[in-house]
Amino acid sequence: GRQAPSAQPVDYPKALQSLAEGGTRMVCTGRTHTDRICRFKWLCYSSEAEEFLFFHGNASVMLPNLGPRRFQPALLDLSSVEDHNAQYFNFLELPAAALRSLPRPVFLPDVALIANRFNPDNLMHVFHDDLLPLFYTLRQFPGLARGARLVFMEGWPEGAHYDALYQLLSPKPPLVRAQLKALGRLLCFPRAVVGLSKTTTWYQYGFVQPQGPKANILVSGQEIRRFARFVVDKLNASQAPAGRPLGEEYILVFSRTQNRLILNEAELLLALAREFQMKTVTVSLEDHAFADVVRLVSNASMLVSMHGAQLVTALFLPRGATLVELFPYAVNPDHYTPYKTLATLPGMDLGYVAWRNTAPENTVTHPTRPWDEGGIAHLDPAEQARILQSREVPQHLCCRNPEWLFRIYQDTKVDIPSLIQTIRRVVKGRPGPRKQQKEKQAVSLYPGKVREARCRAAVQGASEARLTVSWQVPWNLKFLKVREVRYEVWLQEQGENSYVPYMLALRNHTFTENIKPSTTYLVWVRCIFNKLLLGPFADVLVCRT
Ligand code: UDP
Repeated sequence: GRQAPSAQPVDYPKALQSLAEGGTRMVCTGRTHTDRICRFKWLCYSSEAEEFLFFHGNASVMLPNLGPRRFQPALLDLSSVEDHNAQYFNFLELPAAALRSLPRPVFLPDVALIANRFNPDNLMHVFHDDLLPLFYTLRQFPGLARGARLVFMEGWPEGAHYDALYQLLSPKPPLVRAQLKALGRLLCFPRAVVGLSKTTTWYQYGFVQPQGPKANILVSGQEIRRFARFVVDKLNASQAPAGRPLGEEYILVFSRTQNRLILNEAELLLALAREFQMKTVTVSLEDHAFADVVRLVSNASMLVSMHGAQLVTALFLPRGATLVELFPYAVNPDHYTPYKTLATLPGMDLGYVAWRNTAPENTVTHPTRPWDEGGIAHLDPAEQARILQSREVPQHLCCRNPEWLFRIYQDTKVDIPSLIQTIRRVVKGRPGPRKQQKEKQAVSLYPGKVREARCRAAVQGASEARLTVSWQVPWNLKFLKVREVRYEVWLQEQGENSYVPYMLALRNHTFTENIKPSTTYLVWVRCIFNKLLLGPFADVLVCRT
C-alpha cells in the first residue's frame, strides 16, 4: 500500500484491521439532506468506480439510518448551493469482507473535508459558495482548521483561483478529484467530514425562483469580516498598496477588461476625482495579483464597478466605505442583488449605490457573440427583434436566459452627471471610513431578560383597581454603553386573546386604566436598547387584583 505524503504516517496494519473488522462509521448533523454534514471513520473511495464506499463491519454505525430515503434524493448536498441535483453525495454499501477482493487500500493520513466547489472559475461563486462555507465548516468540527486536507469532488481542474485562494484555507494543499486516481485505486480516509455549512451564504442563484437574497440569512458582517481578515493575513495584504502612503484616501474603480466594459473609464475616473476631491485608482483581475486586489479594496473609500463577480471583493472594503454598482441598459438592479445583499448585511457597515444605464444610445450590444457571452444571432428573428425592443429583462430563472445574457454582456458609456447624482443621494460628504461607525458597532448587543419582575395589585372599592409592576435592569446593561433603554410591557386579561402594549422608560409603572378588580392579568416585560434591539421577555407574571 502506498501512502500519501504526511507528517503523521498511518500505522498500516492497524488501520487495515480497524477498517476490515470494524468497518465504516458515520454520524451526521442535520435533519434533511440540505442541512446535513457527516463525520466518518474509514470512509473509502474507489477511484475506478468513482464511488464512495461504506464498509459494513462489526463496529459500523450509520446515523441517520435512512434506509431507501438515503436516495430520496440524496444523503446530503456536497456543495453549499441548496439541493442542486448535480451536487449530491451518497455512498455504495459493501460488506467489509469485500475488501479481500478489492485493491489494497491506500490510507490518507490527514483528516479530510470532502466537498464540491460550485463554480471555481467565477470569483463570486468561489467566495460565496466555497471559501466562506469551507472556512466556517473547518471551524465547526474540532481538529479541522489546523490540518484538514480539503478534497474537492466536483471534478473540475484546480482552476484559476486554486493557488491564490483555495490553498489559503489549510496548511495542506487541497486535492481535486483527478488527483485521487493517482493516489490509488481504493482510497480510505481514517477521518473525514463530508459536506459544507450553508450558514454563511446570503444569495440563491435562481434555480427554482428568480435569483435573490436567501429567505433566511444567518450571517452578519461580523463573520464575513472575520473571514476577510483571515484572507488578508494569509495574503499578507494588510499593508498600504504599493507606492501609496498608509491612510491615503482613494476611490477604486474595478474594471473588467474582456466584456461588460465601461467605455468611458478615463472620463469616469476624472469625474469621480473631481467630485469627491480624491485620488482614483483602477484595478482588474487581469492586471493585478489577487493579493494586490485585496490590498487595494481593503483600503478604498469607495469601490465603483460594473455588476459582476469581481464585486464579491466588496467583502474586503473597510467599514464606512461605499460600493457603487453599475448596471447595463435594460437590467433592473433590484433583480440582481448578490453584492447589494452582501454590502447591506448587518454589521458590514457599507454604503450601497446602484446605478443603471437608462439611455439606449449609451449601450453597445454584442448580438453576434457566442450565446454564453450574450449573443442572440442563433435565436429566431422574431425573438431577436423582441429582445432588441425590450426595455427591461423580465425576471427569469438561472442560467441560460438569452435576453438576460444579451443585456448583461453589453458595454456601457456611463452618463457621468446621472451617476454622480445617484451617488450623491447616498454619499453626502467625503466617502470613506468614519469613526461613528465604530461606536455603532459597539452597541448592537441585545439586552438580557429584565430581572426580579414583580407585580402588586391594589383594589379601591367595587370597580377600581391598580396594578403596579416593577423590575430590575438586564444583567448585561452594566457592561454596555446604551444610548436609550426602554421597557415594553404587555398586559393581558387572562382568557382574552388580545393584549395592551406599553412602552416605558422607568423600571416600574402603576397601571390604572382598564384594570378591573377580581381579575387575573398576565404581564410580560422585556427590555429594548436603542429602539431596535429587542430583548427576550422575562417569565410571565400572573397578577390577581
Ligand atoms: N472576469 C474578469 N474580467 C472580465 C470578465 C470576467 O475578470 O472582463 C471574471 C469575473 O470576475 C468572474 C469570471 O471572470 O470571476 C467570470 O465572469 P462572468 O462574466 O462569466 O461572470 P459574472 O461576472 O457575470 O458573475
